[in-house]
Amino acid sequence: MIKAIIFDLGRVIVGFNDQKPAEALTKYTKKYQSTIYYAMFRSKHYEEFVLGRITPAKFYSEVKKDLKLTCSFAKFKFIWNSMFSKRKNVEQMIRKLKQNKGKSKVNSNHYCLILLSDTNKLHFESILKNYPIIKEFDDVVVSYKQGCKKPSKKIFLIALKKAKELANAEPDECLYFDDLIENIDAAKELGINAVQYTRFHDLISAFKKFGIDVPK
Ligand SMILES: [Mg+2]
Repeated sequence: MIKAIIFDLGRVIVGFNDQKPAEALTKYTKKYQSTIYYAMFRSKHYEEFVLGRITPAKFYSEVKKDLKLTCSFAKFKFIWNSMFSKRKNVEQMIRKLKQNKGKSKVNSNHYCLILLSDTNKLHFESILKNYPIIKEFDDVVVSYKQGCKKPSKKIFLIALKKAKELANAEPDECLYFDDLIENIDAAKELGINAVQYTRFHDLISAFKKFGIDVPK
């Protein structure tokens, strides 16, 4: 029986387009969009930022140096945070799972909801402010606070520990959704039921497969 459902954030709970900030920054540097993209999302400082080893100000200063950016930190922050979009159908589904949780006496579905995300301080603080759906989760595990990221076992074990504490759930009583196959594989190695999210219907079919009742 599934007791805890663990969700990845990007491309599961929220959509994102990481080319959007790269394109927006073309106004503030002479570099190409592809160069900007790499300096932001494929660089050593991005890795360090996601692991919480450098501050937002340091990340900005490194990107600024690489690209000779002419924009302020405030502007950079605004652009950096502009890449997410709401997924109303997923949000609605999460709220329904939460409804289930409330019906404790007659309904045996007490799903504990955990968010497990590789993210950085700027993005996550912006998400918390603009996406109230995050408040529906019982707990969150984010890479920049833990100092490790997926697909490392360490971060999955932190999420599993929370599932155990909150719902007395063993790994095989957890269901995990992520868009990236390497994360699905890592979760499966730990005995977690893991399903790759590629479209909304994947949630519906996984809930059916694992016997999760979702109110109409
Ligand atoms: Mg993702």
